[in-house]
Amino acid sequence: MKDVEIYLGLGSNLGDRMGNLESAVERLSEKVTINKISSVYETDPLYNTEQPMFLNAVLRGVTRLAPLELLNFVKGIESALGRQPSFRNAPRLIDIDILFYGKRVIQTGELTVPHPHIAERAFVLVPLAEIAPELVHPQLKKKVSDLLADVEGKNGVRKTRMLGQKVKLIAEN
Ligand code: AMP
Repeated sequence: MKDVEIYLGLGSNLGDRMGNLESAVERLSEKVTINKISSVYETDPLYNTEQPMFLNAVLRGVTRLAPLELLNFVKGIESALGRQPSFRNAPRLIDIDILFYGKRVIQTGELTVPHPHIAERAFVLVPLAEIAPELVHPQLKKKVSDLLADVEGKNGVRKTRMLGQKVKLIAEN
């Protein structure tokens, strides 16, 4: 399997949100060579607005995992980090979305790539435009910067600080 360039979106709105993002990045780096991570943004929840604010970030990396292997890998990280010893079916503390897998368009029962909601989500497009404004969405055939220009709700997405030093080093190596 050849290395493929991928983009992942990360979000957390429960518990130690920054710590959850950092743990996810560390675990992802076991099978994804991460080469760029956006700043972290605090974002108003979009659909169910009666919940805490999210922290969101986007990263770019290369991986040898096939698409479904990558999906299973990120789901494993979600459940490992989301597991709370005291509750059954506790809410997940981290959400990891596969935004792009090379230029591939994939539609199976389990996996849709590019992620179907990219164009309507400022919390994805704002951090994505920070690291890859020129990237062209392989289905919509539009640049990320153009998708960002058209999306609503950008003022609900505010830059906070970067991820911690430990995680930044992952992306710089
Ligand atoms: P959600 O809880 O909304 O993040 O949805 C998670 C489910 O969406 C997973 O069980 C996946 O099977 C499915 N899914 C479909 N496409 C994607 C994608 N591009 N990235 C992550 N999950 C996906």
